[in-house]
Amino acid sequence: MKSECVLSKRFINTKIGEIEVIGCATGLHAVNLSSVNKRQRCDSCDNVNSLNESIHWLQLYFDDCSEEIKDLMVPKICESGRSSVYLNIWKELSKTEIGETLSYSDLSERVFGHRNASRVVGTAMRRNPCPIIIPCHRVIKANGELGNYSCGNDIKAYLINYEKVHSTLKGDNH
Ligand SMILES: [Zn+2]
Repeated sequence: MKSECVLSKRFINTKIGEIEVIGCATGLHAVNLSSVNKRQRCDSCDNVNSLNESIHWLQLYFDDCSEEIKDLMVPKICESGRSSVYLNIWKELSKTEIGETLSYSDLSERVFGHRNASRVVGTAMRRNPCPIIIPCHRVIKANGELGNYSCGNDIKAYLINYEKVHSTLKGDNH
């Protein structure tokens, strides 16, 4: 499939290792947590806005979920070539708060108004191109088990705990 997007990439060092961020002028294309992931092509070294926004967002996120992140828009995803069903699921998921977890059927209900679409929700999570920014780590099984995470369950557990710690601190009025 030919994409008309001109892709740039940048790297950021974080608490969970180096993250590769790829985007075009319209929005973000990919967030790769692991070097095991296939590195995507890069057409230009332009400092596109989507990458600046995403790097800034990730820096705040990994700076103990800095208060400032609440005032930021979640970085925009480039919608080119993406299924509208998945885009809707990812958008709804992006409205969840730091420290929140929900089940696949909870997310189904928020997107579709019923709880029967947890399978398509699960597929949308597996196909999430931008983990952390689209926070699929917050989606867990209804029985409280973690479920799968394409970037590794250790990272999923880490992120859930990391968010819980930092959102609790904020609510505690320290
Ligand atoms: Zn694009």
